[in-house]
Amino acid sequence: MDVQKALADAEPKPYWLQDPARPGAGSPLEGARECDLAVIGGGYSGLWAALLAKERDPSLDVIVLEAGRIGGAASGRNGGFCAASLTHGLQNGIGRWPDDMHTLERLGWDNLRAIGDTLTRYGIDAEWEPTGELSVATEEWQVPALEEAAETAIELGWEPVLLDRDAVRAEVDSPTYLAGLWDPDATAMVHPAKLAWGLADACRSLGVRVFENTGITGLRSGIRGLHLTARHGAVVTARRVVLGTGAFPPLLKRLRGFVVPVYDYALMTEPLTAAQREAIGWKNRQGIGDSANQFHYYRLTADDRILWGGYDAIYHYGNAIRSDLEQRPATFGTLARHFYETFPQLEDVRFTNAWGGVIDTCSRFCAFFGTAYDGRLAYAAGYTGLGVGATRFGADVMLDLLHVGLAPGEETERTRLKMVRTKPVPFPPEPLRYGVIELTRREIARADRNAGRRGLWLHTLDRLGLGFDS
Ligand SMILES: Cc1cc2nc3c(=O)[nH]c(=O)nc-3n(C[C@H](O)[C@H](O)[C@H](O)COP(=O)(O)OP(=O)(O)OC[C@H]3O[C@@H](n4cnc5c(N)ncnc54)[C@H](O)[C@@H]3O)c2cc1C
Repeated sequence: MDVQKALADAEPKPYWLQDPARPGAGSPLEGARECDLAVIGGGYSGLWAALLAKERDPSLDVIVLEAGRIGGAASGRNGGFCAASLTHGLQNGIGRWPDDMHTLERLGWDNLRAIGDTLTRYGIDAEWEPTGELSVATEEWQVPALEEAAETAIELGWEPVLLDRDAVRAEVDSPTYLAGLWDPDATAMVHPAKLAWGLADACRSLGVRVFENTGITGLRSGIRGLHLTARHGAVVTARRVVLGTGAFPPLLKRLRGFVVPVYDYALMTEPLTAAQREAIGWKNRQGIGDSANQFHYYRLTADDRILWGGYDAIYHYGNAIRSDLEQRPATFGTLARHFYETFPQLEDVRFTNAWGGVIDTCSRFCAFFGTAYDGRLAYAAGYTGLGVGATRFGADVMLDLLHVGLAPGEETERTRLKMVRTKPVPFPPEPLRYGVIELTRREIARADRNAGRRGLWLHTLDRLGLGFDS
């Protein structure tokens, strides 16, 4: 298959954001306003925070301030795997917080269920499909790792199903599959942009005011609250502030070392015909991830396209974020080649979209939290490629830290977690930052080529509990 031909007509835009259901642009904030809670960022972090704040205390005056469009960044362009895990997978969580893991898993379950319930309660059609997730081994060295992952999951109360070669191919027919681990409960598929737009509508229905094209550039403390200044001069004075700006330059200087913006890329195919669907099986429509360190994630859409993403995770010197970095032909070519290797039956299928987006990566792979300005501002960031579900939990943590709907000083089960009370190790400043990340990326690729064997550099990072992932 000529991958360049297959990509020739692919639009350089996120498939999800082209949906006809996309609302028109909202107006920017004008003039000066006061509010009880200002939320900076109109991705899932900010939208969940605004919605949950109103649910906790309907009397609050809440404002959302988004620099671009609602869901225009990672939240509207991701793979749509909405996972129960709050820790970027069980192994990462157990390695870091073994004593809290049962609690973290229970809270993760509750969180996933609550997302589904919210969609029902507000009538949000985000193409929610609780399909579960299938992890597949495509190299021999990955098979024992899947078996180990199954044991860990069972210990923590999950009910995953281990599938041998024939069983996994009966589920989804790829000649590359050697084994599979299907967790039918831990993940749902969602239309990511519809989720963001639906949350914004739900916020508005409770009286939240949502402003787009309102980038906040200034933040300072005053007697009546925190003063936020927008790029175009509008000003908000807020008693409390939630900072949900993901991978973008944080308004708090102290956060700059903790998060690096990493580009992740995805392709979308045209809708498969009935015969093409038949040729690959996939009747249970699970989200699928393969098990190498450089992994692919893929899933079906409601109209039977395949979203195919992952593999390369690209950091640009100096934490660069620019719209031209959303296109990376070399990565699109690699992804397309891997697609046809996985599904040779689909050699006639073309791609309609190819895009990238920026992930807020931190060195421990899952979110961290904190407050500033004497507890009047709370932040959450660092979801590292698994924030579709976990951002709702993170929003609850931020509201707990701000004591929204709680007594002053009150702690919650969430704020007592070690995960909430600790921070990741920061990345070194440039130019070391770029060098360390590039070295780590190369070593990860080498480990995959070398039957998963990790060299000295990765072993050292593992021992220190550090890493680079997407
Ligand atoms: C290609 C791709 C695939 C992914 N796939 C998955 C997946 O399948 N499953 C999963 O769980 N996760 C996935 N993720 C990660 C997931 O999308 C994120 O973890 C999640 O969307 C983070 O939400 P957020 O609200 O914190 O950040 P964002 O969605 O980035 O939102 C932050 C918002 O803040 C705004 N902002 C920034 N600075 C300012 C400012 N100064 N003033 C006002 N507004 C500001 C930005 O414009 C942006 O809209 C993927 C990400 C990408 C890029």
